[in-house]
Amino acid sequence: MASSVCVVGAGVIGLTTATLLQDALPAGSLVTLVADKFTTDTTSDGAAGIFRPGKYLQGPSEQMTKQWLEDSYKHYKKILNSEDAAEAGVKAVSGYLFSNKDPKIIQSPLMKEIIDEYRECTQDELDLHDQKYGTFCTTLVIQCRRMLPYLMDRFKRRGGVVRKQHVNSLEELADEGCFDLVCNCSGLGASVLANDRYVTPIRGQVFKVRAPWIKNFYYHENDTYIIPGMDMITLGGTRQFDNDTTDVSTSDASEIWRRCVQLLPSLKDAEVLRQWVGLRPYRPSVRVEKELMKFGGGKTLKVVHHYGHGGYGVMSAPGSSMYAVSLICDFLQHHQHHRAKL
Ligand SMILES: Cc1cc2nc3c(=O)[nH]c(=O)nc-3n(C[C@H](O)[C@H](O)[C@H](O)COP(=O)(O)OP(=O)(O)OC[C@H]3O[C@@H](n4cnc5c(N)ncnc54)[C@H](O)[C@@H]3O)c2cc1C
Repeated sequence: MASSVCVVGAGVIGLTTATLLQDALPAGSLVTLVADKFTTDTTSDGAAGIFRPGKYLQGPSEQMTKQWLEDSYKHYKKILNSEDAAEAGVKAVSGYLFSNKDPKIIQSPLMKEIIDEYRECTQDELDLHDQKYGTFCTTLVIQCRRMLPYLMDRFKRRGGVVRKQHVNSLEELADEGCFDLVCNCSGLGASVLANDRYVTPIRGQVFKVRAPWIKNFYYHENDTYIIPGMDMITLGGTRQFDNDTTDVSTSDASEIWRRCVQLLPSLKDAEVLRQWVGLRPYRPSVRVEKELMKFGGGKTLKVVHHYGHGGYGVMSAPGSSMYAVSLICDFLQHHQHHRAKL
């Protein structure tokens, strides 16, 4: 039976969910995307977008987290191998994870299992970069400055409706009475919309630079990274827990610049395009869950929550969205059986 579903949020999570929903819902269904910020105003827009899962990405279970990442990698690989790759901002990139302190920092068991190329660095590679431990791998970068408009265009072309609106509470959407279900992809906004005290910002500051001679990515220890996207390179960074300041800090900037140039001296000639601060929507585990919300006067609203991807939302968006879409379809069917019985 055709349904009407509202997706709240137009970051990479909301847009990926909305487009996958269009594939999954029966003909005649309508998907409406509601958000107060779009494209360059979202956190997703500034993310480096590298597929490099870390240990802080936690889905509902270990097995499901791995499934999301495998599904995501396959999804993005398919785009990479299609004629849409450049428009969607997906490219393959090789590079290094380095550490002088701890061999564990450069190991990523999940990456090893999922991506195409992953090996220990040779001694020559370590000597060249003056490092003690290193991994070389080939992975993907998904640049949201291209991916978000690409998804939005697909969404609209297939009849999706877009509304710019701040949602004060999900009850507002229940009051409209026209949605069979709402999918809550509001990132940090979920702390209010779902009254979720586990949602916390992790502040990240970066430079976006032009340095076309740099082709590889580099990670050093935990917080220094150089990641080439399609049109610019992201230099980072910071990971400041429970800090919601979006102003650029000059002391963070000089520290990031110092660490990156130390790692790759040729960066001193890079052209700085801009500086940016984003707040990663962290939650100890990503929430993808059904909830029947109850409001005064016996009003109810079917909600599937889908938020809390922290520093891993770009890489995991397709996989976790596939799971969210399966919950939505299941919840809607249940709803229709229920309606049919009444
Ligand atoms: C510096 C930095 C580097 C990063 N690098 C990477 C990386 O390399 N790889 C990776 O995978 N991830 C990376 N991330 C993480 C990634 O950016 C996030 O996980 C991802 O963007 C989360 O997407 P989202 O759609 O949940 O949130 P957002 O992009 O924040 O979107 C939230 C949406 O919800 C809407 N919204 C919220 N509340 C309301 C409301 N009340 N009413 C209406 N609309 C509302 C907003 O307007 C917006 O449209 C990085 C993040 C930062 C800050």
